[in-house]
Amino acid sequence: MSDDKFTFNFDLPEKSHIQPKLLTPDAVINFRCYPGISCYNACCKCADITLTPYDVIRLKKRVGKTSTEFLKDHTVPFTMDADGVPGVKLRTTDAGACLFMDEKIGCTVYTDRPTACRYYPLGNMAMKHAEQKHEQQHFVLIKEEHCKGHDEPRPIKILDYRAEQNIEEYDGHNKEYFQLILKKKSAGPALGRPAPMSLQLFFMACFDPDRFRRFVLSDAFKKNYDLEASVYEKIADNDIELMYLGFRLLRQVLFAEASIKEHEGALEKRLEERQEVIEMRRKAEIAQARANDPYQAYKAEVEAEDIAEKDKKNRKE
Ligand code: SF4
Ligand code: SF4
Repeated sequence: MSDDKFTFNFDLPEKSHIQPKLLTPDAVINFRCYPGISCYNACCKCADITLTPYDVIRLKKRVGKTSTEFLKDHTVPFTMDADGVPGVKLRTTDAGACLFMDEKIGCTVYTDRPTACRYYPLGNMAMKHAEQKHEQQHFVLIKEEHCKGHDEPRPIKILDYRAEQNIEEYDGHNKEYFQLILKKKSAGPALGRPAPMSLQLFFMACFDPDRFRRFVLSDAFKKNYDLEASVYEKIADNDIELMYLGFRLLRQVLFAEASIKEHEGALEKRLEERQEVIEMRRKAEIAQARANDPYQAYKAEVEAEDIAEKDKKNRKE
């Protein structure tokens, strides 16, 4: 089995055989960023910021919106892998500038800025060797032409830079999310492509806590899952607790871990209902095909009848 990597806020040069140098927390970098530096705001004018679930919680509170409104106004969706696992990035202007950037004052959400902004100019990479139980965190130094912070004579250890940027708090809340993504990656083809409903649930549980809370409080959810009353109390007005419940549910849905107790027979009932939904959708698709192109639909039906007839004959012989 090969090793797995998950890069969060930078892209590995896929076509190049030159790999970036991996740094440990003890490594020393030379960097300083401050208002008044000649490149002030240059990085925020070409922002490509991937958000974590904790980033969304901080930012939606900061701008005073529900998560659904925040997603609509401030983010764009993207897929993290070939299986369509969804993620969100900060929305920018057409020229690529972050909507939270102000020419004069810089970042208007500074104390709630996302993880990727805190890390810059460091890239964050989680790696798990096949024989290791837990992933390890590595860093790379991102040097971009526009960033003059590298020319500032300030040597600083990566661990001190992280403390200065208050990254540890963010890392603490991002940990389970990164583990989830890494586990999905490690499972590879054995897991297969998650069902569309599982991917929708992933999006809602990770990035839309206000909708996810309504889902968890719904009768449909309570009919399936046997959650302790204390959990309902905790998530009532606490988005972080809700986020952790979301990760528990996703481990159950994606990896079949028994992380949440289910009511007896709930799984069988759910499968039955899902089958009914699939059947209803199939019928609706056939009806739609008939309406769109009656001749093609007729041909398909004749072919299906022919096959069924031949099948019947073969079975008799
Ligand atoms: S959130 Fe703030 S720091 Fe991050 S790109 Fe936008 S303006 Fe820059
Ligand atoms: S030094 Fe780098 S991080 Fe700081 S404002 Fe300039 S471009 Fe952005």
